[in-house]
Amino acid sequence: MGAVGLRRVSVGGLLIIFVFATFITGCQNANFFSTKDEVRLGEEGAKQVEQQYRIEVNTPDAIRVRRIGERLLMHIHRRPGVPYSFHVLDSPTINAFSLPGGPVYVFSGLIDLVGNDNDALACVIGHELGHIQARHAVKKLSSEMESGILISILLRGNAQTLANLGAQLINLHYSRGDEYEADWRGVSYAYKAGYDPNGIIRFFDKLEVLEKKQKGAPPAWLQDHPLTKDRIKRIEHIIATHDYKYGM
Ligand SMILES: [Zn+2]
Repeated sequence: MGAVGLRRVSVGGLLIIFVFATFITGCQNANFFSTKDEVRLGEEGAKQVEQQYRIEVNTPDAIRVRRIGERLLMHIHRRPGVPYSFHVLDSPTINAFSLPGGPVYVFSGLIDLVGNDNDALACVIGHELGHIQARHAVKKLSSEMESGILISILLRGNAQTLANLGAQLINLHYSRGDEYEADWRGVSYAYKAGYDPNGIIRFFDKLEVLEKKQKGAPPAWLQDHPLTKDRIKRIEHIIATHDYKYGM
């Protein structure tokens, strides 16, 4: 009886540990990843990007995006150990994305749509930097897999696993809450770096016009970032109330 009772207790104890671990994973996913892990994931993702797209080197667009990105960097609390970088992908796709641990990518198609509106471009790049700053990618990866612990073990594992993770990173879809936060961060960084945050509203207007023109085929950036009325309202409220709480 005593032995059985003891076994029960230990099974129960294991269960409690398991539930507790799951609870922690659910609440603080990103904590399973060190910055080093993030940078490594980002490097794997970057390899996938390089296989899929041609990266523009020293073209006017590439220089412009890097210049704006570096100006934004001077107004954010840079995360130690994160090698931020800014790139242009030669593709008509209207999109932009970032990878954990530093790289930000803007497609030349998005730059064409933005035209010479540096304020709009700064807000888009700021939005992508916001995902890096808030560690949204590792948070999302953790929630999609059984647990963050599993991925951090995989990170020390074989190249194929890492390559798979890298491919997954390019197609991550963030939660609505994470998108709101990235918007908030983006307009805050842009404002603090001296850009007009209304640039993002002008960009949204252009996207909406384009979406109406190409019925049923919204630009890629809208597929990843649904332009809900609520989203626009939130950004307008941040601008109207000067609530630029991120950056410096
Ligand atoms: Zn986003």
